Amino acid sequence: MPTVVPSIYGTSAFKKIDANWAPNIGHTTCGGLPAYVAGMLGLTAEGAATRINTGGGLAGMRNAGIATGSWVHNGAMERRRAVMAGGQPARPKPGDFYLLCSGAVDRHEAGCNCIAPVKLEDAHKYRGATIEHVGIVVSAEGNLWRTADAGQGNQQVQLALYVWRQFNPATQQITGESDKFGKPMRRLCGWIDVDRFPFLT
Ligand SMILES: [Zn+2]
Repeated sequence: MPTVVPSIYGTSAFKKIDANWAPNIGHTTCGGLPAYVAGMLGLTAEGAATRINTGGGLAGMRNAGIATGSWVHNGAMERRRAVMAGGQPARPKPGDFYLLCSGAVDRHEAGCNCIAPVKLEDAHKYRGATIEHVGIVVSAEGNLWRTADAGQGNQQVQLALYVWRQFNPATQQITGESDKFGKPMRRLCGWIDVDRFPFLT
């Protein structure tokens, strides 16, 4: 990760995250950072089959976690179960790939633990919330988190940066990413536990 973060569009480091991005192209580059790191960690045949490192999209990254048993869904039921067992709700560890989603909370609770259809014509079958951002956790202790994220900057210049983020345990939302309407917080959908994903290293 430190070989490509921080970096700025136009540099060789940033090209490793997203070689195709150009100003006003319309998409952001956030998915490129975990995809690049996934490739550098090395993939078993099972891991490669998920296409986690080849631009399978943001929902595709979650699909990869679910398919390999490495997805940790941040659902109310999972958090309640952890507390009832005498512990604390799970937190991502350094290196885990975290995902933020938007939309109705019941769609997140019921749908974000399910594999989303890959084919466009099957999209109507999907009932999960929309994955809006992905990045890599540096520290998720307390309520001030540190993350590494591409997709920063704007539609003229994209950046990959280390970012401080406020985590709100009451709402399960994280600051620092906004939707296209400028709404400034996102729900922690869950994360890929890198220790459980079939990486080579
Ligand atoms: Zn979700």
